[in-house]
Amino acid sequence: MTWQQLEAECKNCEKCALSETRTNVVFGVGIKDAEVLFVGEGPGENEDLQGEPFVGRGGKLLDDMLKMIDLDRSKNIYIANIVKCRPPKNRDPFGTEQEACIGWLREQIRLINPKIVVCLGRIAAKILIKEDFKITQEHGQWFDIDGVKYTALYHPAALLRDVHRRPETFEDLREIRSMIREICENTYNPQTPAF
Ligand code: SF4
Repeated sequence: MTWQQLEAECKNCEKCALSETRTNVVFGVGIKDAEVLFVGEGPGENEDLQGEPFVGRGGKLLDDMLKMIDLDRSKNIYIANIVKCRPPKNRDPFGTEQEACIGWLREQIRLINPKIVVCLGRIAAKILIKEDFKITQEHGQWFDIDGVKYTALYHPAALLRDVHRRPETFEDLREIRSMIREICENTYNPQTPAF
């Protein structure tokens, strides 16, 4: 399946009940062959309205965090979510919804073929790294899965609620920058335009 086919099919998806309440399917944003992929759990209200991940206050904080390590959704990364449609009242996506939706992200990962995947928050880390992932203990650690380096940061919404977690996150960001410098060739020298 090509990227265009995947995006078109995903944007018509009705595989779970979230299709009934969404405004937009939030497919993702960034560079489609990025070496670094960020994955959150699902769209919130602003994301649902605008059709783009991480555009509210949490998104502004995420953009500021990324800027600190020279990453930018328009230049050198891709950002997607575990579920593509907003869970009502911003609740966590149900397991059944995650299972229904994860195939879209798996196909995005196959096509992007990233070297590094950064999970934003507990839910993405539990799905992509391991079921018993403990975000408070294991954020910032690296996991090798099928030749790809995975790590997790606190979700930006958690960092808005609890500023005391930010210093640890800055350390994690520095580690991500070091890993990018070690194993990525194009991230800090992007050749591809945004789309
Ligand atoms: S959340 Fe995912 S599986 Fe459910 S309707 Fe939206 S795109 Fe389809």
